[in-house]
Amino acid sequence: MRNITEIYIDGAFVTPHGEEIAELFNPSTEEKIGTVRLGDREDAQAAIAAAKRAFPAFSRTSKAERIDMLQRLAAAVSARAGEMTAAMAEEYGAPQYFTGFSVPYAASAFLKMAEVLETYDFTRVIGRAEVTMQPLGVVAAITPWNSNYGFICAKLATALAAGCTVVIKPSEMSAIQTQLITECLHEAGLPKGVFNIVNGRGDVVGAEFSAHPDIAKVSFTGSTAVGKQILRSGAETLKRVTLELGGKGPNIILDDADLDSAIPTVLMMGLANSGQACIAGTRILAPESRMAEILPRLKAGAEAIKTGDPSDPEVKVGPMVSQKQYDRVQSYIRLGEEEGAELLIGGPGRPEGLERGWFVRPTIFANVHNGMRIAREEIFGPVLSVIPYRDEEDAIRIANDTSYGLQAYVHSSDPARAKRVAEQMESGRVVINGAPHEPLAPFGGFKQSGIGREFGVFGLEAFLEPRAILA
Ligand code: NAD
Repeated sequence: MRNITEIYIDGAFVTPHGEEIAELFNPSTEEKIGTVRLGDREDAQAAIAAAKRAFPAFSRTSKAERIDMLQRLAAAVSARAGEMTAAMAEEYGAPQYFTGFSVPYAASAFLKMAEVLETYDFTRVIGRAEVTMQPLGVVAAITPWNSNYGFICAKLATALAAGCTVVIKPSEMSAIQTQLITECLHEAGLPKGVFNIVNGRGDVVGAEFSAHPDIAKVSFTGSTAVGKQILRSGAETLKRVTLELGGKGPNIILDDADLDSAIPTVLMMGLANSGQACIAGTRILAPESRMAEILPRLKAGAEAIKTGDPSDPEVKVGPMVSQKQYDRVQSYIRLGEEEGAELLIGGPGRPEGLERGWFVRPTIFANVHNGMRIAREEIFGPVLSVIPYRDEEDAIRIANDTSYGLQAYVHSSDPARAKRVAEQMESGRVVINGAPHEPLAPFGGFKQSGIGREFGVFGLEAFLEPRAILA
């Protein structure tokens, strides 16, 4: 049992004023593994005050000083990678291929932003004006549970690179992981108050961060519903916002795709992070002309994907993070059946042989119409819909017929054709034939998948305000 009793304010671990206790679980066993004492509004305010005090000096640090701090943070996070991996498996249920990516990725976020800083020019001349890019002030980062380290580190790295000071509210369901990463970040020895981390409920600490007049910007990753709430509360003080929200990504198999390579990629992009991924390609758009070949291959591919406890290195789909998430995904599987979609594989209940744990059977519905709720709403679990299309134009129309626009996937044997289709996607990112991640490219959504972009120069500038001096 781990009992997390402290939050991190002004460079020190302190007992929160808040007294509410939340329970922590291992989603693979449903066993209680700890508790976390949550901060309240007073704690949120104390964190904001510390960040505000730290801002004047920190905002004046040189690029070289900040690069040095970012490098120290990366080293401090890397130093405890083993423990971080174990905690992510235990508290979140992440399979090993995913922890293997996530933990190094979290540390590398600091190095990537140090790289961006090396070449970024904070001053430029435009005609008579000298324009300097100024840090915004105190920023709040509010993060979800599906990649706790990655979101904390990426937001923190970018805000610090810009010269902003930070208050962070991670998901209350990730407190063991948060404790570890906070200990790492503390080891880096940054000036006190530059970053502060407060465990707490979204409607308490998150709400205080989103409304407090001393917060200049909120960088939020989470659901579209909460994103809209944050935008509304921030409007009163005209806060800048970056919102990284949900998705319902199209996963387009063009009729010339090599199915041997495309099908495993289609499934991986749909079921990544046990389906608990905003970027998941959950709408598989398949040509009618090849449906008879595609469906058996999808079925066979999904059958081969191992679901279970992440301590098994072969496992590719782990449990849902919580009972609530398990129930929600189950209700969507029932909904798919009610809506008349054809169950290709999976279905309600747990996978065979798993009597406990919040495991869901990887489920694929065929013959789905894009108007069905299972095709329109983000399920956030391993549930995919196969939607038939007639021709390329029809595929593009269906792909864009969604209120989301975060990440799309195109599979084709013809690179020029794939690019032409990609260029017509209303989507922040389009991945062709499973191309690898590019950490410095902008990340974020069109439409209701969000506002603004993260990573690289685009992410940095979202924490800066241009000031023009005319002489
Ligand atoms: P969530 O929106 O419920 O919670 C996210 C964070 O917001 C948590 O820290 C939560 O405590 C906090 N929060 C809740 N209510 C709040 C309020 N009223 N004010 C301020 N903060 C509040 O999302 P979740 O269930 O933790 O995560 C899943 C969602 O996140 C999915 O919809 C998914 O698509 C989205 N997501 C998006 C991205 C992206 O980059 N676009 C990445 C991962 C997850």
